[in-house]
Amino acid sequence: MTTSPSHPVVVIGAGPAGLAAAAHLAERGIEFLVLEVGPLAATAVREWGHVRLFSTWSELTDPAAEKILAPTGWVKPDPSTYPTGADWARSYLQPLADVFGKRVRYGTAVTGVSRTGRDRIVDADREVQPFVVHLTTPRGEERLFARAILDASGTWSTPGPAGASGLPALGEKAAADRIAYRVPDLKDPAVRSRYAGKRTAVIGSGASAFTALAALAGIAQDEPGTHGVWILRRGISGSTFGGGSADQLPARGALGLAAKAAVDNGYADAVTGFRVEAIAREADGRLVLAAEDGRQLDPVDEVIVLTGLRPDLSFLSEIRLGLDERLQAPTQLAPLIDPNQHSCGTVYPHGHRELSHPEPGIYLVGMKSYGRAPTFLAMTGYEQVRSVAAALADDLEAADRVELTLPETGVCGGAGLFDDPATEPADGAGCCAPVPVAISVGEPESSEAQDRTANAEGCCS
Ligand SMILES: Cc1cc2nc3c(=O)[nH]c(=O)nc-3n(C[C@H](O)[C@H](O)[C@H](O)COP(=O)(O)OP(=O)(O)OC[C@H]3O[C@@H](n4cnc5c(N)ncnc54)[C@H](O)[C@@H]3O)c2cc1C
Repeated sequence: MTTSPSHPVVVIGAGPAGLAAAAHLAERGIEFLVLEVGPLAATAVREWGHVRLFSTWSELTDPAAEKILAPTGWVKPDPSTYPTGADWARSYLQPLADVFGKRVRYGTAVTGVSRTGRDRIVDADREVQPFVVHLTTPRGEERLFARAILDASGTWSTPGPAGASGLPALGEKAAADRIAYRVPDLKDPAVRSRYAGKRTAVIGSGASAFTALAALAGIAQDEPGTHGVWILRRGISGSTFGGGSADQLPARGALGLAAKAAVDNGYADAVTGFRVEAIAREADGRLVLAAEDGRQLDPVDEVIVLTGLRPDLSFLSEIRLGLDERLQAPTQLAPLIDPNQHSCGTVYPHGHRELSHPEPGIYLVGMKSYGRAPTFLAMTGYEQVRSVAAALADDLEAADRVELTLPETGVCGGAGLFDDPATEPADGAGCCAPVPVAISVGEPESSEAQDRTANAEGCCS
C-alpha cells in the first residue's frame, strides 16, 4: 500500500487545537477525520470547565474556525470578556465540532500510530507508506490509514507527580485517596466540603497553583480552620508570583497576585526549597510530606499536586520523533520555549518547520507541542495548525508566513524551572530578564524589586 491523497489527514483530539486544525484543513479542501476519546468536543477543557481563563474571547477563537461558523448563525461572544472552560466548550468548541458532523468521531481513543507494515526500525519504502492508526471504539478495536497525522491530544491526561524527582514520591500512590492532580472546583459543594476546615498542601508554582491557593483562601474566609500549605521547590523571589501588573494578559498576572494575597493575609504558609520525596499516612489518615533534605511538614488532610502536565508519547512509540531530551517538545521548537531560558511568552510564531520530525507527515500541535514547557497559549496553537495545514496543501509561502504576536508574561526571568532555594540566576539569564530579587512574603516589596518588576514590561519586544 502507498500513501494516497484519498487517505484523510487524521487529527487526534477535538480540543481547541484539533478543531482549529480541522477548520484550516476544511478551508483548504483537505479530507480529514478528528478522533476524540471523549463523548463530546473539548473533553479536556470541560474537565477544568470551572476555571476562568486568563485570556479574553478575542484570544480564544481561530480565524478559520470563525469563518466556518459564521454561516451557522454563530455569534462570537463579547471579545473583551473572560470565559470559563465550560463557556469555551459550550459557546465555541462544540458548535465548531458540530459543523464537521461525522468527520469528528467521539468515543474513539487513538492507541497507536505507525507506518503501515513498517515498525520504527524499518527504512525500506517507509515514507511512501500511509500512517496506520489503531483505535479503541465502543465497537472494539479498529484501524484506519492516514496521509498525515496532527497529534492535538494535549497533555491534560498526564499530570506530573508530587515527587520532586519527577517520579511519584514514595507512598504517593498509596495516598491517592487524599491527593488531587487538578485544580478542584471549590464552588461545587461536594468538592468544597473536602477542603473546608481542612489543612491542604498545594504543590507547584504555576498558574494552576495560584488558582488553587486563591480558591482555598476564598473558603478560609468563611470556613475557619481552612488553611493552605504552599510547597515550592525554590525560594520566593520577585518572579515567584508571575508578572503581576506587568503581564500583558492582566488576568494571568492577577492569578499570581491573588496567590500572594493568600499568603500575605495568612490563609496559606509558603514552604520554600522543599523537594517532596515521600508521603506517609498517619494513624488518623492525614498525610505527612517529607523532603529529600529530611524536613517533615505537619500533617495535612489533603494534597493538591499541580506540578505541570506532560505529553503522553506512548501511542507514538513506532514513530520517529525528534524531541528535545528535556522538554519532550519538537527539537527545533524547544529552544524557543525552554523555561530555563524564557518565561516571557515571547516565543516567536512558529509553524510546520519547527514542528517537523524525522518522520515526515506527523506533527505534534497545540498544548502537546510544548511538551513539558508551561507557557502554551491557544493562539500559538491556532497559528501552528494554520501553518501545518498550509504545508499539507503544498502552500509553502503561506506555511512560512508569520501571522501572530504573542503577549508577554511580564516575568521574563529565564528562571521558570530554576529551583535552587538558595540562589536565583545571577543575571536573570535568558531572553530579557529583570534580575530576580528575593522578597519576603508578608512584607511590602522593596522599591528595588518593584522597579525591576516594572522594568519587565515590554522587555522582550
Ligand atoms: C486550567 C487551564 C487554564 C488555561 N487557560 C488558558 C488561557 O486562559 N489562555 C490560553 O491561551 N490558554 C490557556 N490554557 C492552555 C491551553 O490553551 C489549553 O490547555 C487548551 O485546552 C489546549 O488545547 P489543545 O487542543 O492543545 O489540548 P486539549 O484541550 O487538552 O485537547 C486535547 C483533546 O484530545 C483528546 N485526546 C487525548 N488523548 C487522546 C487519544 N489518545 N485519542 C483521542 N483523543 C484524545 C482529549 O480528550 C481532548 O479533548 C489553559 C490550560 C489549562 C489546563
